[in-house]
Parts: sequence; structure tokens; C-alpha cells
Amino acid sequence: MKNYNVVHILELYHIYKDMDWQEKRNFYQYKCDYYQFFVKLILILASLASLSYLVSDYQLNGHTIMPTLIPRTSILVPMFLYIVLEPKVKSYKWKAFLNYLLLNLIVFATIWSVYHLEIKTHFSEGATILNFIFLICCLGARPCFGAFGYGVFFAEILVSHPFNHYENLDVILSLNFPCFAAIMLVHCILNLGEFERYLTSKKLELALITDPLTTVYNRHRMNQLIEDNQIISEEEMISIIMLDVDYFKAVNDTHGHYVGDQVLHYLGRTLMQEIPKSGTVIRFGGEEFLIILPGCPPENAYKKAEEIRKKIAASKETAVGFHISAGVVKYNGDFEKSVKAADHALYHAKEKGRNRVYWDQKF
Ligand code: GH3
Ligand code: MG
Ligand code: MG
Repeated sequence: MKNYNVVHILELYHIYKDMDWQEKRNFYQYKCDYYQFFVKLILILASLASLSYLVSDYQLNGHTIMPTLIPRTSILVPMFLYIVLEPKVKSYKWKAFLNYLLLNLIVFATIWSVYHLEIKTHFSEGATILNFIFLICCLGARPCFGAFGYGVFFAEILVSHPFNHYENLDVILSLNFPCFAAIMLVHCILNLGEFERYLTSKKLELALITDPLTTVYNRHRMNQLIEDNQIISEEEMISIIMLDVDYFKAVNDTHGHYVGDQVLHYLGRTLMQEIPKSGTVIRFGGEEFLIILPGCPPENAYKKAEEIRKKIAASKETAVGFHISAGVVKYNGDFEKSVKAADHALYHAKEKGRNRVYWDQKF
């Protein structure tokens, strides 16, 4: 368990503040996906539980439930609509909108019921109880959504006053305002705690798909790309490069595994520097690397591979000099076949004497 203190919370806040909107959006979506089921369940239970106030209505209205029967049961309509609509929206913004809409309709149904009550003073307790649901609702939402949802709650109380003539409006407001302040504070602190959990999960996710020695992606990433259907060549040309260190076994045997590892680390770093941001570098095997270049015709991929080959052959950054061979093909829509073809092209480059790039133009 992390030892939280003010400095740590401020650090988290600064990281959060410096994030761009896209990252913030990912964070709120992550938070919403985690809590939404729980929030939804509580909102449905709260809607149903609000019907139990028919008992206190019966007591307050002189042993009849008729005046508040329709206002109290009216919540069932939006509740069923909520049950139908909520699974259809995926974005955290729409989920929060529906959550706060149902919650404020519970408030509305309560206010409508109070209109039909002979004794209205107990609304101050009823409104305070609603704060519990506001506290739950904030779990999956942005703090600003929570503040807006709460604002609507206060507005409903104030707007209903000319109709309901609350004898104790001042008490209702003075009881609810501290609840609002406390819930917003809890909301902001929980948000930062949740943010830290998000950062940790991102780090773990990245570690899972990164090769620690070369710092390029590993095969998990390649499988993700295939499973998520992310390598699509309909509109743009995609090129594939298969690259392998020449006589690497001899590097290990002559200079030791430490130097071999240094070579691989340097190669990984160089590939990351040389390949455009849209490209993906994967450590395919021990000293074999697969490079996927979207929006890159094979002639450009060939030129890029040649540039990398020359740079590595001329490099003095490792304890021992080394060179690479590479095979280039155009992606044909079938990942497995394209990788096999690139591997075949690499084999061809090896056969021709190594330290060269071969582009299979027939594939
Ligand atoms: P070729 O030019 O035909 O590619 O010959 P090669 O010696 O490079 O190929 P070979 O497949 O015979 O040898 C690959 C070597 O790579 C064998 C293996 O011990 C070494 N290797 C694989 N992974 C690592 C690693 O993580 N670190 C180190 N130091 N060596 C590794
Ligand atoms: Mg090799
Ligand atoms: Mg090899």
C-alpha cells in the first residue's frame, strides 16, 4: 500500500495537470469502465428504494398512499429507460450524463412527492440521504461532471420552492452544502488515487509488450496488432522489413554474451530512432527484428533499410563492429504470408553474402 502524503498527492496532481486531453480522456474512460457496473447497480437500487418512502408518505398524509403513488412510482419509467440505454453508450461522458440524469430524476420524483405531502419539513432529511447516491455516482465520473450534477440538485430544490413552499429551506440548504463540499473534496482525492492506479496499469501494460533488452516491442505487441486487426492496408501501402544481425553467434562466442547484449541494445535503440513514429519495431526472435511501416511504399522501405544498414555497419558505438541483413516486401493483406515473404527475402540477402538488403518485388 502506498504511503500517501500531501507531497505525493501534489506530485500526482502535477502529472495529471500536464497530461494532454487525449490522455485525460483515456484515464476517465478507464475509471468509468472500472466503476460503471457498480454505479449502475446502486442507481437502480436507489430508484427502487425510493419507492419505500411510500410508507413514510402514508404516515405523513394521514394513512393514505394515494397522493404520492404516481410521483413516487414515476421513477420506474426513467429507470427502465436507463436500463435499456446505458449499455448502448460506451463513452464515459454519456455514461455520466445518464447516471446524473437518473439521479436527478430521483430527486425530481422526491420533490414531486413532497408537493403532495401535508408535512414537508422532513424533506431536509430526505434530501440529505440523497447525498449518499451523489457520493457513489462520482466514482466513475470527472469531478466537474459531479459538480454540475450537484448544481442541478440545488437548482431543483430552489426552483421547486415556489411550488412546495418549504418551511425550512434554510435548513435544507445548510444541511446539504457541507455534504456537497465534502463529496467534491472526496471526489477530487479519489480521482487522484484512481489516477495513480491508471498510471501503474499503463506501466504494466507497456512492460508486457516491451522487450527489456532492446526496448522495442515484443511478440505480445505483434499478437495484439493482429488480434485487434490494426494492420489494414486498404487505403495505404504498408511495408514489412525483416532484419537480422549477421554472424551474431560469432559475436557471442568471441566476445561474450555481454557484448552480444550490448549489440542488441544498440540495434534496438537505432531502429527506434530511425523508424518513423507511425512504424512499429518488434523483436521477432533472438537477433531478428520485424518492422511494420504503414503509409510507406516498399521502395521507400528499401531505402530506409539501406540507410539503417549503412549506419550500423559504420557505427563505432558498440565494443565490436557488426552488420545486418534485411528483407523487404510490400504487405499483401495477409500478415503471416507477408512475414514469411520478408523472411524469405532476408534469407536471400544472407545467401547473397550478408550486409545487404533484398527487396522481393515479385511478392
Ligand atoms: P546469420 O548471419 O546466419 O544470421 O548467423 P547468426 O550467427 O547471426 O545466426 P544464429 O541463428 O546461428 O545465431 C543467433 C544467436 O543469437 C544464437 C543465440 O545464442 C544468440 N542470441 C539470441 N538471443 C540473444 C540475446 O538475447 N543475447 C545474446 N547475447 N545473444 C542472443
Ligand atoms: Mg543472425
Ligand atoms: Mg537469426
